[in-house]
Amino acid sequence: MTTPAARRWEPVIGLEIHVQLRTRTKLFCRDIAEFGAEPNTHVCPVCLGLPGALDAAAADGVLQPVRIRRIHLEEDAGKSIHDRFAGRTAVDLNRAGVPLIEIVTDPDLRSPAHARDFLGRLKLTLQYLDVSDCDMEKGSLRVDANVSVRPAGVARLGTKTEIKNMNSFANVEQAITFEIDRQIRQLESGQDVVHETLLWDAGRGEARPMRSKEESHDYRYFPEPDLPPLVVSAERIERVRAGLPELPAERARRFCEAWGLPEYDAGVLTASIELADYFEAVAQASADAKAASNWVMTDVLGWLNQRSLEVRDFPVDAGRLAGLIGLVGSGEISSSIARRVFARMTEGPEQAAAIVEAEGWTQIRDDAQIAAWVDEVFAAHPDEVARLRDGEEKLLPFLMGQVMKRSRGKADPRLATEVIRERLG
Ligand code: ADP
Repeated sequence: MTTPAARRWEPVIGLEIHVQLRTRTKLFCRDIAEFGAEPNTHVCPVCLGLPGALDAAAADGVLQPVRIRRIHLEEDAGKSIHDRFAGRTAVDLNRAGVPLIEIVTDPDLRSPAHARDFLGRLKLTLQYLDVSDCDMEKGSLRVDANVSVRPAGVARLGTKTEIKNMNSFANVEQAITFEIDRQIRQLESGQDVVHETLLWDAGRGEARPMRSKEESHDYRYFPEPDLPPLVVSAERIERVRAGLPELPAERARRFCEAWGLPEYDAGVLTASIELADYFEAVAQASADAKAASNWVMTDVLGWLNQRSLEVRDFPVDAGRLAGLIGLVGSGEISSSIARRVFARMTEGPEQAAAIVEAEGWTQIRDDAQIAAWVDEVFAAHPDEVARLRDGEEKLLPFLMGQVMKRSRGKADPRLATEVIRERLG
């Protein structure tokens, strides 16, 4: 937003995130907590009978630089299904009683992009912790966004609205953008923002007020008499803390320190657990972390992105890729040949060495053969050779390219450069 009106207002955003925990059963009964079963087949009196009860402990925390106001555990409610019977709403209670955590942030976010970035980091953390599958489309991660704007420079918060019903992070970003613009227009025209709940309509790209009946916040939470107070000892907290897996930021730091990677590489490679695991396996097997990083970031991710596939679908296991890296490292094949071997490895089960052997792609280090190619190239491009002699260094890669072409990519480039330099005198 770059309009003059937008510059006069500062957006303020707080998020409420519901995360379904990936447990086998529900919170207080043995019904299975799986997604996608026939409606109302995983239910029992325990999960059917209870009105909403706010269950468990709260905590403060921070996922930088956004403060976490509280996290609590609760039971999920049933789900309304509007598209199963014409004109009627059905209720599926399979989800009732499935454990959820609700994470509530302070109103610390200042832009739609900031909110999206925060959600990305939160999701990654939850995935590293292995507590939820975090699938927004299945409803195992749900985000409500609280949005207000205030005149730039003013400390007091403006009146907020709450937007629900976004089914992707992109939707969350769009919905918040829409709502900020709407509130600014409202205030600029001298009207107030009404405190209300809005539903995002992704099809139309707009948020509309919920009907007032649905909006009633009359949840009637009450203490659950069957739940005794749960006292969590400091020692137990320590034990859990000690057992936590490595989180994304820690893993990225370790990639820099232990593998000597640049921060940029570490950030890209820890963007998912599968990718980080794959990279580490390649780095270990090849004992060349930077080469492993380059191959994974450029060639592996490029291959997967082109096909919209996930890391787990990549057909070359870490050992085979490490084998290819080894052949380049030892000078057996050139990097341009290596790209061809890589392509072949994605199509079949062979090891890199077997492909190189079968195709006769081993790098050529025969001095006489390379000198012959260099002589041919010099004879064919006398002009360029003269200009290079006069100091036009950019012609070296050109002549090298010609030698490589004649060798069909197999000349050892270091040797070829040496011979060219020799011939230049
Ligand atoms: P509670 O008392 O349950 O914490 P609040 O309405 O204060 O309820 O907060 C709910 C959510 O709304 C939190 O994520 C909070 O950060 C956010 N929030 C509160 N006030 C504002 C505001 N003026 N603008 C934007 N977000 C807000």
